[in-house]
Amino acid sequence: MKISKILAEKEITVSCELFPPKEGSALEQSREIAAATAKLRPDFISVTYGAAGSTAGYTAELAEESERHGVPALAHLTCVSSDEDSLNGYLSLLRKYGIENLLALRGDMPQGREPKRVFRYASDLIAAIKARGDFCVGGACYPECHPESASVAADIEALRIKAGSGCDFFTTQMFFDNEIMYSFLSKLRKAGINTPVIAGIMPITSVKQIERTVKLSGTVLPRRFLEMANRFCGDAAAMKQAGIAFATEQIIDLIANGVNNIHIYTMNRPDIAGEIMGNISEIRK
Ligand code: FAD
Repeated sequence: MKISKILAEKEITVSCELFPPKEGSALEQSREIAAATAKLRPDFISVTYGAAGSTAGYTAELAEESERHGVPALAHLTCVSSDEDSLNGYLSLLRKYGIENLLALRGDMPQGREPKRVFRYASDLIAAIKARGDFCVGGACYPECHPESASVAADIEALRIKAGSGCDFFTTQMFFDNEIMYSFLSKLRKAGINTPVIAGIMPITSVKQIERTVKLSGTVLPRRFLEMANRFCGDAAAMKQAGIAFATEQIIDLIANGVNNIHIYTMNRPDIAGEIMGNISEIRK
């Protein structure tokens, strides 16, 4: 089923995310994780695309695994690893697997590999996918502004172009301060961008994850979050519980304020996804 239809028909949606294993690794364990995640009945499962497209086949296969368990899949794809031929091949594979949804991203320049330069921005890739068939295509957005943008205004203008290229929905970069999200949404609406926005929530359940998260996303960590992390970082079980509670609270506040579409960056952890979904089961029903 198309995600645009799910977003239009359901008041509250919750989705999860998987990432494929490294190139050359077996897919079996990832299939089990996909099956366990699908058992939680999220509204859809997204599957990321390895940098430089090294695991494109795995992305498609894990997306198919999700569909096989009755959960619509969202397969990611990047510009830096795509040209006309690879795009046509990937779309054929997705069609064969019954996958109707793609998240089109620019990707980041792969280290030690030459990026492909056919599609410059995600909006170019979205337009190319839309021209090739009846896919539902989403794109990324950044409540704290994309780090390469010259200004917030320039970033919003780029999102206006992305929406105009046929983007059916946006998924946000992770954020830990909901006020930043509310301010971002207000800027989008003021700019006349009415595309649905799915809020990306990352449960931080270990100290290692905090360092990685900040390095990769450059996101602001609010005082509340830092105090939680400082207090519980010495105890793995307590840190996990506190991280799940923090993400749950963030989600409840978002839904209470009308941000009804939530994407949990579950990072191959169906146990964590399951606890969060259990915490909001009455809210979501
Ligand atoms: P774009 O939308 O192309 O934007 C990149 C920069 O160019 C921004 O500064 C933007 O403001 C500017 N820009 C865009 N369009 C224009 C225009 N027309 N004119 C002028 N400037 C413009 N990476 C992966 O490798 N694999 C994944 O699976 C993956 N999944 C992701 C999922 C989400 C929800 C998010 C938020 C990110 C994901 N990423 C993934 C990371 C992403 O590839 C990087 O953040 C990348 O730096 C930007 O991708 P984008 O699609 O937002 O780029």
